[in-house]
Order: sequence, then structure tokens, then C-alpha cells
Amino acid sequence: MAGTPRYSIVIPMYNEEEVIEETYRRLKMAMSTVGESYELLFVNDGSRDRCAEMIREYAFWDSNVRLLEFSRNFGHQVAVTAGMDHAAGDAVILIDADLQDPPELIPSMIAKWKEGYDVVYAKRLRRKGETWFKRATASAFYRVLRACTDTPIPVDTGDFRLMDRKVVAEMSRLTEKNRFVRGLVSWVGFQQTAIEYERDERLAGETKYPLRKMIKLCLDGITSFSAKPLKLAGYAGALLSAAGFVYLAYILCLAMFTDRAVKGWTSLMGITLLLDGVILLMIGILGEYVGRIYEESKNRPLYILKDSVSQEKKQEPVRY
Ligand code: UDP
Ligand code: MG
Repeated sequence: MAGTPRYSIVIPMYNEEEVIEETYRRLKMAMSTVGESYELLFVNDGSRDRCAEMIREYAFWDSNVRLLEFSRNFGHQVAVTAGMDHAAGDAVILIDADLQDPPELIPSMIAKWKEGYDVVYAKRLRRKGETWFKRATASAFYRVLRACTDTPIPVDTGDFRLMDRKVVAEMSRLTEKNRFVRGLVSWVGFQQTAIEYERDERLAGETKYPLRKMIKLCLDGITSFSAKPLKLAGYAGALLSAAGFVYLAYILCLAMFTDRAVKGWTSLMGITLLLDGVILLMIGILGEYVGRIYEESKNRPLYILKDSVSQEKKQEPVRY
């Protein structure tokens, strides 16, 4: 590849052997309509199938293909970050490997970029072929996040987006470990705009985002961009103490001025259970934040590369 490419397309992949050939073909086709230089930067997030070998083969023939390999599975958001760290293009495009984000949208993103926008994100109008549970939880998540934070993070928007070099450079200065990439991009600022699209079904295979990973992403998003849940704990505590105080006054009056003895073991038990639940929840919220402080303080690298493949690199050792 002569010189630096104009566009870098970052494709994180985790066990995507069933789709990767078609993804490669459609990305090449979309980029050929643009007619400028580009690189396809695949990030293998510790896949246990053959997808990395397939990319190696493409890289052998195709100088536009590069591969970064993690030493194990570090997660989607980290894979995207690694791709951005290593991308060389003037504009960097993030896209999922499973073709839920149509590559055919890239030329329109590039057109917007040429109009002068620094970030062009793709907003999902509809999501096809996903369970009602996924759609409902995703939709609730974006709205809770919007209510919690002062950073204007667009709703119903994934990581499918184009970013100018200067945005990518600023992103690499954000060193936090529990990353919510789409939020960080909003936080960085610059001129941002949206294009709308209909999210397709996954081409093949099943989602690599089980509920466990979705919950982590959701907690990362909220805790990285808002301290409101901590304040919520405080408010709830204040409210409950006030209610408790009123109730205490009431039972004291009962005891002093009437002979109606307070019977309720049930009510006592009910209140105890309720309050214990609330207290545990509040401690849990504290724990989420403290755990993240702990992660940051360990200061471990975000990811470990096992290998990186490109034709340029292959030619390096040839010296005369
Ligand atoms: N992915 C990854 N590491 C993971 C999980 C997912 O790199 O630990 C990649 C995956 O290969 C895909 C993208 O992240 O390219 C989005 O994942 P997926 O399509 O499974 O998520 P969904 O669309 O179901 O939310
Ligand atoms: Mg998907």
C-alpha cells in the first residue's frame, strides 16, 4: 500500500467465520464506489473459530487488508478502541462484522464528512430480526442514559459511525478502562451529524452480546457519564428517613395516648425487608463506582496484541 490510506474501516470480530467472507466482499464493493484509498482493519477479539485465518489469507492477496489480533477476548468496545488506535486514515469508520450495519451506507457518511462534519453517526430507524426483549431493553437503556447524563449521547445509535482524524486523536487521549465508545465520541465534541438507516438482521451466526455483556455495556455507559445514581441513593435515603420519622412519631403517639397496642409483626417485617432491599441496592450502586475506581487505579493496559498482519509489515524485514 503506497502511503497512508484516506479511509480506515475498523471491523471488530469475535467468532464471525460464517459472515466474514460476505462482509469483506460487501465492504470492498462499497469502497470501490468511493474510488479513494482505504484500509480494512480487522480486529480479532480472541475468536476461537477460523475468522482470523481467513483474514490472513485476504491480507496475503489484498494490500488493503490489515489484521490486529488480541491475545484473548477483551470485548467489543476494547476491540473498537484498538482499531482506532492503529487506524491510519484521515477518516475512521467503525462497523460491525455481522452486516447488521450496511456497508453501502459508508459512501453517504463520507459525503457528509466532505461537507465538513467531523463525526457522522448512523441512527437506527428500525431494527429488524432482533427479539422484542433486545429492542425493548436497548430502547429503555438509551432513554435512561439520556435522563442521567449531561453529555448529549444520541439515542438509538450504535458504534456504526465515521470520525475525522482529529476526533480519533482526541479519543486516544481518553484512557479510561471501562469504555463506552459512543458516549466518549459525543463527549469529545466537534461537528456531529446523523444519517438514518434501518438496521438489518445479522447475516448468520448468533449474537456475540449475551445478556451479561449487554448489562456490562449498560452499566459502563451510565456510570461513565453520570454520577446521578449515587445521588439517587442519597435522595432515596433522605426520603425514607423522613417517612420513617413520621411513622415513628405516629407510633409514639399511639403508645402514649391510646391503649391500642401496636400489634404488627407483619408491618415490622415488611418495613425491614423493604428497607434492607433498598440499602443493599444503594450499596450495590456504590460498589459499581468503587469497582470502576479500582479498575482505573490498577492501570493495566486496555488490551494485549498477539500479532498484527499487513503486507507492509511483511516487506519490512527484507534488507540488503
Ligand atoms: N464483538 C467483539 N467482541 C465481543 C463481542 C462482539 O468483537 O466480545 C463484535 C462482533 O463480532 C460484532 C460486533 O462486535 O462484529 C457486534 O456484536 P454482535 O453483532 O454480536 O452484537 P449485537 O448486534 O447482537 O448487539
Ligand atoms: Mg450484530
